[in-house]
Amino acid sequence: MLGRTHLAIGLLTALALDSFISPINRIAYYLLVLIGSILPDIDHEGSTINNIVPLTHYAAKLVTHRGIFHTIFAPMAIAFVISTLTQAEYGWFVLIGYLSHLASDSCTKLGVNWLHPFSDQKLVGPITTGTWMETLLFWAALFGIYVNVF
Ligand SMILES: [Zn+2]
Repeated sequence: MLGRTHLAIGLLTALALDSFISPINRIAYYLLVLIGSILPDIDHEGSTINNIVPLTHYAAKLVTHRGIFHTIFAPMAIAFVISTLTQAEYGWFVLIGYLSHLASDSCTKLGVNWLHPFSDQKLVGPITTGTWMETLLFWAALFGIYVNVF
């Protein structure tokens, strides 16, 4: 799935959970959820996060796309490290965005193996990345953002 779709779904997720979480620092909340929403594609050379942060593209050389960074284990480890090094809630914010990414990638035909390497089962959906179906999902997310904001 494209970076813009992940960002839109990440923002929609952040908006939807805002009133439940009531973050003290809303700027950090939205920023970290958005970072989390594109972070898993650190394993893809041409991804949005690797275009924004030049150093992260080295990760793509070390691991396969939709490998370990597209499992439930990576966000748990990343959230733990962020929570340990900063504030506990910051790890949760990144985790929210990260899980929105994995959930939306699970709607694609390529799918996500959430339990890799312990399982071969992928969660897949009907969407092919970059097609009209993804564009429809992107615009639906933008509409959801509009409805949440206004
Ligand atoms: Zn992905």
